[in-house]
Amino acid sequence: MKADSPPKRMSPAPSVVQSVTPKRKAKTSSQGKKYVVIRRNLERQRKALLEEVVEGLANPKSQEAFPDVSDQASAEAEQNFLMRIREREQRLVKKIDEALARMDQDIYGICERCEETIPYPRLKARPVTTLCIDCKTLEEQEEKSRR
Ligand SMILES: [Zn+2]
Repeated sequence: MKADSPPKRMSPAPSVVQSVTPKRKAKTSSQGKKYVVIRRNLERQRKALLEEVVEGLANPKSQEAFPDVSDQASAEAEQNFLMRIREREQRLVKKIDEALARMDQDIYGICERCEETIPYPRLKARPVTTLCIDCKTLEEQEEKSRR
């Protein structure tokens, strides 16, 4: 004879309990989504730039591309020109990396100088910027006065 055995143990609906578990950094992840389009653009631009740089290094466009350029000076100027473009590309890649890193740290879109949020349209137009328009203007004025 059973001694007042308890009824079948009810399992406390585990699936419901699990789904309630809050995700880590719920707030910041929604913050990160705010710039999802910009992030995608940056990543695409970065890839394109890197491919260009690699291509440029693989087949350096020297005199062959410009058969008319016979004198040494023009050839050198051409090389310098290409080198400057490559340097600019590499600098831009670095800026893109930095912007992506700021996104990871959830500090993207915050002005480095005044710590205000940079308006979205400005970020969209110039995603690697670290300054709001006011601070950028100030900086340019300072640079001009330094010259
Ligand atoms: Zn600012």
